[in-house]
Amino acid sequence: MLSISPIPAFNDNYIWLLEKASQAVVVDPGEAPPVLRALEERGLQLAGILITHHHFDHVGALPELLAIADVPVWGPHNPAIEQVSQRLGAGDRVTVLGHDFDVLEVPGHTLDHIAYFHGGEQPLLFCGDTLFAGGCGRVFEGTPAMMHASLQALAALPQNTLVYCAHEYTLANLAFARAVEPDNSALAQRATRAQELRQRNEPTVPSSIDLELATNPFLRCNTTALRNALSQQGRLEGDSGAEVFATVRAWKDHF
Ligand SMILES: [Zn+2]
Repeated sequence: MLSISPIPAFNDNYIWLLEKASQAVVVDPGEAPPVLRALEERGLQLAGILITHHHFDHVGALPELLAIADVPVWGPHNPAIEQVSQRLGAGDRVTVLGHDFDVLEVPGHTLDHIAYFHGGEQPLLFCGDTLFAGGCGRVFEGTPAMMHASLQALAALPQNTLVYCAHEYTLANLAFARAVEPDNSALAQRATRAQELRQRNEPTVPSSIDLELATNPFLRCNTTALRNALSQQGRLEGDSGAEVFATVRAWKDHF
């Protein structure tokens, strides 16, 4: 049985901790102290590290963690992340604590960005800074069309897939989503729930693909509801999903 919990890091990052018996794997360790503390408190031994992309707040702890444990580091084909021992691309599969994960290439936020998907009875997705709860990452290195295609690939995963993203940005994302789709009742309900969780200082993640499909504007670029909402506000530009995505992403960048 795999248990998964967030280790808060920096201001709003989550480093996901996967544990099975006394073995642990962490996803995107940006800083070492909170990881080392979690391992110590729970009596866990580090067995591996998964990396989604090269940003410092996802890889910063690698030197310090590898100094205490000589473990495999799975990550993208980007030589800038020197510590990666097994480089992965689309179609690759890795076994982590006895669970198989398929690798998806999801460029857009960065060009090297990959995600890890575990199928089976309870599907799991570790998607770094590509898909967020109620939002998506900024398009730093790719194009909006590229990011849209990456998000569409994630949207096509099984609807009950649990989505483990790397930041607690949910309240800000949902505030923007409500500006885009003021009449979306699933979105209003989600925003209330998320506010309650944050008031108790609890994470709003993981989320799920079905919840994102119902409430995340960046996954709804092909829906009539979102296009009507944009049109009513005089913001609908272009016909393709990629064009609608580009419009919504640019709006969010200045929201
Ligand atoms: Zn990033």
